Amino acid sequence: MGKTMYLINNQTAITKAAFPVIDAHNHLWGNWQVERVIKTMDEAGVVSYCDLTGNVRIEFSDGGYVINPGNITDFIENCSQKYPGRFYCFTMSNFARPVQKPLFDDDKRFVAECIETLNKHVEQGAKGLKILKELGLHYRDSSGSLINCDDERLFQIWEEAGRLKIPVLIHQADPAGFFEPVSPDNEHYESLIKYPSWSFSDPKYPRKTELLKRRDELVKQHPDTTFILPHFGNYAENIQYVSNLLTENPNVYIDFSARIDELGRQPYSTREFFIKHQDRIIFGTDMPANIESSGEMYRTYFRFLETYDESFYSPDYDGTFDRARWPICGIGLPPEVLKKIYYENILKIIPSLGNVNNLTLK
Ligand SMILES: [Zn+2]
Repeated sequence: MGKTMYLINNQTAITKAAFPVIDAHNHLWGNWQVERVIKTMDEAGVVSYCDLTGNVRIEFSDGGYVINPGNITDFIENCSQKYPGRFYCFTMSNFARPVQKPLFDDDKRFVAECIETLNKHVEQGAKGLKILKELGLHYRDSSGSLINCDDERLFQIWEEAGRLKIPVLIHQADPAGFFEPVSPDNEHYESLIKYPSWSFSDPKYPRKTELLKRRDELVKQHPDTTFILPHFGNYAENIQYVSNLLTENPNVYIDFSARIDELGRQPYSTREFFIKHQDRIIFGTDMPANIESSGEMYRTYFRFLETYDESFYSPDYDGTFDRARWPICGIGLPPEVLKKIYYENILKIIPSLGNVNNLTLK
């Protein structure tokens, strides 16, 4: 927790969001004990939860994780069928695999398989394609070369998503501090000490600006494909940059999952941004919904969006309040904007979600 503050100030008590909420960015990682998640959702007013990695199992070890392919039918049986309307998923198609082995020997076969699996999963109910940050940082081809997200060999995959009218949610880069030396003056020092695998300060990794440049190139190359760029386009340290990106690329949306810390320390510019780009911003948390602090985690997001409360702590990336970096301020958005961000914008991208949740657009 951050330092104790002795302010006597207004703290709006929020139990539920002002409108129904779709958490459009989260992960179950193959953990199908979802009763606890449902309980949090009901308490917070979250009507629907997206498991972006519906066909992925993950194993955590040594401050890191290993990605393994899972079976999308496990998600269907344990989540979407068991709790109709409450869960939907994206698929990673055949990108769901450990980074230790080459992503492909034969790029054409990999792409053909990816497209075939994607089509199959979409038929089974997957609503989009998810690409983790491992593409561009870790995945290599059989010659040992790093595969960048704008690699021409992958071109057909993004085109196919456009043809299927499903969004691609692609994570590239990370907070600026993750690419800087892990020293006490790094603003993310505490998190990087706890999770060493989050650091990309080693020069063997591409720099943040290069990753973003390639991603920006990717979205420009595929204007008929909808891209959701998570974590405020992974450049919450530079709001103007993200604003320009949205203005220049009508096929791009962002979510602001795991970035209310960055945004809440720039409340005036953030508010201006949220008003200006209100049709392009999607709600997501990317934080566990099955732990003790989960209710508080959601309520802090709502408080950030809905109130002008000052100087409160946001949850860290793992959904706990143990390592708050700095206090944040709320941005007091008007109701019509909140409604778009909480569920209307994601319904525009994925209209079929509306049928199950009785949420409709004007
Ligand atoms: Zn995520």
